[in-house]
Amino acid sequence: MEINSFYCEKCINHVGCISVEIEKDGICNHCKNPDKYFVISIPSELKEQKFKKMKNIIEKIKRNQGNHDFDCIVGFSGGKDSTYLLYLLTIKYKLNVLAVSVNSGYMSRVAFQNMKQTVEKLNIEHIIIEPPIEVFTKLYKWYIFNHNSNDLPIMKIICDNCTDLIDSLVIKEAARRGISYVFIGLTPDENARYFFEIPNEKLNHSWIPKHWSSDFFKDEERKWWWNHEEFGIKNIPRVIFPLHVWLYNEREVISTIEQHNLVRKGKADPLKTNCTLIWAIGMYDIIRFGFHMYRVQIAKLIRQGSGDRGHWLQIFNRLEPLLAKGEFNKSQIDRFLKQIDMTKNELIELARSKRKKDPRREIIERLLKFKGIQL
Ligand SMILES: [Zn+2]
Repeated sequence: MEINSFYCEKCINHVGCISVEIEKDGICNHCKNPDKYFVISIPSELKEQKFKKMKNIIEKIKRNQGNHDFDCIVGFSGGKDSTYLLYLLTIKYKLNVLAVSVNSGYMSRVAFQNMKQTVEKLNIEHIIIEPPIEVFTKLYKWYIFNHNSNDLPIMKIICDNCTDLIDSLVIKEAARRGISYVFIGLTPDENARYFFEIPNEKLNHSWIPKHWSSDFFKDEERKWWWNHEEFGIKNIPRVIFPLHVWLYNEREVISTIEQHNLVRKGKADPLKTNCTLIWAIGMYDIIRFGFHMYRVQIAKLIRQGSGDRGHWLQIFNRLEPLLAKGEFNKSQIDRFLKQIDMTKNELIELARSKRKKDPRREIIERLLKFKGIQL
């Protein structure tokens, strides 16, 4: 592999990342056609229509203000987007918000600090739901032993599933308290699964995944999932993603929350606020697929103009070889492996054995060699 044609000249994607191709001019297919790979493109009329809908929702909430303890619940992770959403709803729209966080047991220290600072500064009520650590741990562990995809990194699968469980807990809290609206800070490009709102049909079903009916999971673990049957139909809230239709600019989001002192400067970085699991499952993905999935995510930010290519290229090129050996954020990796009762070598061996069965294994192995990873 030649270094010249290895990296995309515009982002940090490289040859061998799933779905990435570097074209003759040195630019990757994601940079050339970003909509095709990440977002569902939304017709402007539909966006306009939902924008108006959002305006009506806010007006309706304001008309009924004072009848309830809270106007709405906001799912709050301590990351930049949910912080920004809290800011808009409380400061700009003057809603009486209950911030609800879910501690999976793998929340980052920075996310905790951010949360504390934000709720103090905005002077809002905040609750943290904390299921026993086994609940989320088993969700992850099941996928580690049952990951058999050649084109979906484990991180993608686990994150989607984990998000559903977190949302389940937030929605349940609203249903229990009779709060009609749940707002979640998904950004405009995070619309692959839903646009603007979780459809009613989806909320009128149990979210317990099929594989959770196996003996691996217990009843007291299954009960944490959203299950419409626990609540009267009247108590099922609407779940809405306002940032899908409001003006969103990442740089402005960060500068707004920093300026208002909702998070300290530099603490809005997703590598710092995201769940600590990204290191252990990222380690699996590097050995299995040759790259950390965040490379493709951060590439997206760079493409949108909110990240410096040189800076991130250096970070990922240093991070991946260390992480492959479990030596980057080691304490968090070790803690997770202990929770799932697995050694580092067992994780490496598992990822390697899956790689050996992948039709792309030669490409992946060349990639690892190029990165100086000998596993
Ligand atoms: Zn690119």
